[in-house]
Amino acid sequence: MVKKEFKAESKRLLEMMINSIYTQKEIFLRELISNSSDAIDKIYYRALTDESISFDSDNYFVKIDIDKENRLLTITDTGIGMTKEELEANLGTIAKSGSLAFKTENELKDGHDIIGQFGVGFYSAFMVADHVTVTSRALDSGEAYVWRSNGADGYTIEEATKESVGTTIELKIKENTEDESYDEFLEEYRIQSIIKKYSDFIRYPIKMDVTNRNLKEGTEDEWEEFTEEKTINSLVPIWRKNKSELKDEDYENFYQEKHYGFDKPLTHLHISVDGAIRYQSILFIPESMPFDYYSKEYEKGLELYSNGVLIMNKCADLLPDYFSFVKGMVDSEDLSLNISREILQHDRQLKMIAKNIKNKIKSQLQSLLKNEREKYEKFYEAFGRQLKFGMYNDFGANKDELKDLVMFYSSKEKKLVTLAEYVERMPEEQKYIYYASGDSIERIDKMPQTEMVTDKGFEILYFTDDVDEFAIKMLMNYQEKEFKSVSSGDLGLDSEDTQESDEKDEQEYQELFTEMNKLLDSKVKEVRASKRLRTHPVCFATDGEVTIEMEKILQAMPD
Ligand code: ADP
Ligand code: MG
Repeated sequence: MVKKEFKAESKRLLEMMINSIYTQKEIFLRELISNSSDAIDKIYYRALTDESISFDSDNYFVKIDIDKENRLLTITDTGIGMTKEELEANLGTIAKSGSLAFKTENELKDGHDIIGQFGVGFYSAFMVADHVTVTSRALDSGEAYVWRSNGADGYTIEEATKESVGTTIELKIKENTEDESYDEFLEEYRIQSIIKKYSDFIRYPIKMDVTNRNLKEGTEDEWEEFTEEKTINSLVPIWRKNKSELKDEDYENFYQEKHYGFDKPLTHLHISVDGAIRYQSILFIPESMPFDYYSKEYEKGLELYSNGVLIMNKCADLLPDYFSFVKGMVDSEDLSLNISREILQHDRQLKMIAKNIKNKIKSQLQSLLKNEREKYEKFYEAFGRQLKFGMYNDFGANKDELKDLVMFYSSKEKKLVTLAEYVERMPEEQKYIYYASGDSIERIDKMPQTEMVTDKGFEILYFTDDVDEFAIKMLMNYQEKEFKSVSSGDLGLDSEDTQESDEKDEQEYQELFTEMNKLLDSKVKEVRASKRLRTHPVCFATDGEVTIEMEKILQAMPD
C-alpha cells in the first residue's frame, strides 16, 4: 500500500491558527521582536566558535519604524538573516522552527536564551497586517531575497538587494473595519508601550525614532518638533542584576514603573535560584492595602517571564491565597510553554517555583517580625486578616505554616503579641491561652467574664476580628496550650474553698434560680450561681464549642 501524506488546506489552517492561538493582537510585536533577538543570538553563538566573526554588541540591535501615511510598520534587525532556502523552509512551512533546529544542532542546552521553538510566532503578523514582506540577507552571503505574502494565497520569493546582513520585516497594517481598528499599531506611543510591556528585557537595544517637542529658541510658547532615535527597552532586567549593585531606591522605582501599587513597598525580596529549577524573582510586600483588596475585582498573581519575555500578567498559581497581597515577578528559563506562549504546558516547574516562593515570603515575614517589629506591625495591620483567613481556610491545611505569623492585641499592654510571646510569659499556674471576643477592645474590657482572668494576673487576647475565633479553633492549641474563651463554662481557675462557698450560694438561692429559669425558659439553658463574677452582677456563659460571638457571626452568614 502506498502511504499518502496528509493534505491540509494551508490557507484555512493559517487563519485558524492565527486567530485561535492568540488572545491579543498586540502579541505580534512580541513575536517578531523575539525572532529578531534570536537571530542576533545566533550570530553571538557563531562568534563563540568561529574566530572570523567578531561580536561587538554595539552593532546589534532591532529597529522599529512607523510610516503612518503608508500604513507601514517595519521591524529591522542585524541578526543572522536567512538564505533563500531558509526563507522557504522557515517562513513557508507552518510549525517549522529554524530556531529550535539551531538549538539542537548546536547542542545549546545550558544558558540558552533563544526563544523560538514552535515555528508559528511569525504568522501572528497576519493578525494585524494584510501584507508581509520579509527582506533578508544571511551571514556569509552576498545575496538577499525577499519573501512576500498576503497570508491567504501563499507566498513568493524573489532576489532582492540589501546592503547589510540581517532581516527587515515590513507589515502593511490592515485598514480599519467596522468592528476592528488597527490604527493603534501605527501610533508611536502605543508601539512603545507594547515594546515596554512584552520586550523590555530583550538583551539587544530596540530602537525607534521618537518625536519630541522643544520650545523654540527665543520664544516662550512656540514649539518645534524633532525626532530622536531612542532605545525603548531596559535591556538588562533589574532581577538579573547583582543585589549588591542595587539600592532600595532601584526596587522602589521598579515597583512604581510596573504599577504594582500606588504606595511604596514596605519591603522587597530579590531571589535568584540556580538549582533543580532556575528562576529569578523580585517580590514586594506593599505598605498599605490596595483599595480593592477584599473585593471580587482583586486578582492575586505574579508576572511571569520566560527568559525575559512576558508570558503572563497575573500568574495566580504562583501565590497561595494567604499571601495574595504579594506583588512582583518571576523569570525562569525552565518553563515549558504552550504554543501561544501565553500559558504553560506543565505545571510541575511552576509548582516547584511556587513552593519555593512561599517559603521565601514566609521567612522574610519572620525576619521582619524578629528584626523590624515596627514594620511587621504595619504589615500586620494591613494584611494580618488575610493570614488569619489562611489559617482557617482549606480546613486548616496551612495553619501550622501561619501560626507564628499571626498576632493579637493583648490585655497586658494593649499591644500586638504573637502566640509565642504570649505563651513565653504565661505564669506557671496558667493552664490555658485566654481570649475574649467582641467588637472592640473597650467593649471586651467591660465584659464581666474578663475580670476573673485578669484578676489572676493572666493575659487575655482580644479577638475583635470576626475571623479570629475561627482561625484559633482550627489551631486548637499552641505549644500544647489550649485556647480558652473567657465566656466558656470552665475557665480552669477555681480553687477548692471557693467551690465550697459556691455550693452554699447555690443552695441559698435555689428558689430564686428556679423562678428565673422558668421566666427565661426558652432564652437560656440554665441560670446558676457564677464563680467568676467580681464587680458585675451577672454574665452570660456558654458550655459548647461555639461562643456567643461565633454564634453571632454564623447567624449573620448567608446559607
Ligand atoms: P519560532 O520563533 O518559534 O521558531 P517563528 O514562526 O517565529 O517560530 O519563526 C520561524 C523561523 O523563522 C524561526 O525559527 C527562524 O528560523 C526564522 N526567522 C523568523 N524571523 C527571523 C529573523 N528576523 N531573522 C532570522 N530568522 C528568522
Ligand atoms: Mg518566533
